[in-house]
Amino acid sequence: MSTDNRSVKHVFIPPDPHMVGDGFRVHSFFPGNPVMDKKRMSPFYLMDYNAKIDFSASDHQRGVGVHPHRGFETVTIAYHGRIAHHDSAGNSGVIGEGDVQWMTAASGLLHKEYHEESFSRDGGLFQMVQLWVNLPAKDKMGTPKYQEIANSSITRVPVEGGSIEIIAGEYQGAKGPASTFTPMDVMNLRLQAGSTLQLDLPATWNTGLLVVEGSVKVNGIDAPLDHFVLMDNDGSRFTVTATEDTLVLLLSGEPIDEPIAQYGPFLMNKWEELEVAIRDVSTGKFGVLED
Ligand code: MN
Repeated sequence: MSTDNRSVKHVFIPPDPHMVGDGFRVHSFFPGNPVMDKKRMSPFYLMDYNAKIDFSASDHQRGVGVHPHRGFETVTIAYHGRIAHHDSAGNSGVIGEGDVQWMTAASGLLHKEYHEESFSRDGGLFQMVQLWVNLPAKDKMGTPKYQEIANSSITRVPVEGGSIEIIAGEYQGAKGPASTFTPMDVMNLRLQAGSTLQLDLPATWNTGLLVVEGSVKVNGIDAPLDHFVLMDNDGSRFTVTATEDTLVLLLSGEPIDEPIAQYGPFLMNKWEELEVAIRDVSTGKFGVLED
């Protein structure tokens, strides 16, 4: 094996799910995973995966009520179902199948996330991913920002036996629509059964794959539905082979080599900054948002 090959570090089964509010039933792959350091997937700090679930029809809009964030970005990728969002910076929107919401909390805002009204009323299949993407210290206290990325604006690159949908980053010169603070790739790999994709990503970039539909082999190692594959940083090239028609979320990024201090919805560098965040919420500095 050439030294440029990147090996599979570990294939994670989905951890036991828990509810976030009453609207999201998530498998929290990281942080909190005992075999992964908190910075192991940096710049991606957190990945909550709502595997497919059927929500019953409801008059009540399930979700998470008003809560703050500071110091990072929340990225929500909808695979099935529709989610609405409001924040104290005045942004709101609805994302549905294939859409992405990229919210830069930065210095802080309040927001709420819940099932969109007609989806709540009718019920149905729900599947999504939420990532917390860390910000470098110099950008943690920047102005909040909101990018709503419609499915139609996601860059599609045909490959043999499928296509790559670039949300952020670059594949063979094609660029995704999301603007990011540090270099990273966030991409959906859609492959038909039997096809193989070779990827080549900088060895220093932390890299993982979430199997959202179907199943794959990564370098010949089985990765079933809803599993997360953590790649080693021992090389750059690896292969993904679809054993069924598949959809895989690829995350890869340049690590942010800075200290981490996290408390609840705040992700900073020092404990003192967490104390400031808690104080700033209680004194109204994160703005106002009605429940
Ligand atoms: Mn949130």
